[in-house]
Amino acid sequence: MQIETTETGSYGVNCSLIENQGKTWIVDPGSEPEKILRMIGKHGRAPDAILLTHAHFDHVSAVAALEKEYPGIPVYVHPADLPMFAHPMNACPPEYPSPPKPLTVANALDLPMTIHTPGHTPGSVCYLFTDANVLFSGDTLFAGSVGRTDFPGGSMSALMSSLRRLAALPPALRVIPGHGPFTTIGDEIESNPYM
Ligand SMILES: [Zn+2]
Ligand SMILES: [Zn+2]
Repeated sequence: MQIETTETGSYGVNCSLIENQGKTWIVDPGSEPEKILRMIGKHGRAPDAILLTHAHFDHVSAVAALEKEYPGIPVYVHPADLPMFAHPMNACPPEYPSPPKPLTVANALDLPMTIHTPGHTPGSVCYLFTDANVLFSGDTLFAGSVGRTDFPGGSMSALMSSLRRLAALPPALRVIPGHGPFTTIGDEIESNPYM
């Protein structure tokens, strides 16, 4: 079991490599593919799949480069976020042109570790690796805060009910958010006003 995280792009998206039960996953390859490929190279094994917490450009802009490096790699995403790919609004040029749709799309809901947590986007998900005691929370939950809901498809009431589901997880569970410092469910219950 191994987890490594590197911050990518000018929005500081946390991109993680997790090896769990014999599989290597890349969570949110935001941008700066060279940096992500270096992390994978150090790990010494090709990734089995890419996991996306949602499809905002800052979380997915290195997907195409990884697909070039690892042809046929499945890219797990919630179907509700698929319309964001190639959408002109989902971009911030020149660093982030609108990201193309992944070549091999897989449904995040087919994975046992996926928790659908709409609110920040309709297809936002968290990935819970129980035996590694870690939750990748994307932009649903940050240390001390939550993701914005004022983008197209965002919903504060959906986010609040998603947070209630996360609050029911074990307090000692480590949380690696889409941006910023790591935390735990217990720390967020104590100090995050949205929880
Ligand atoms: Zn986002
Ligand atoms: Zn983000």
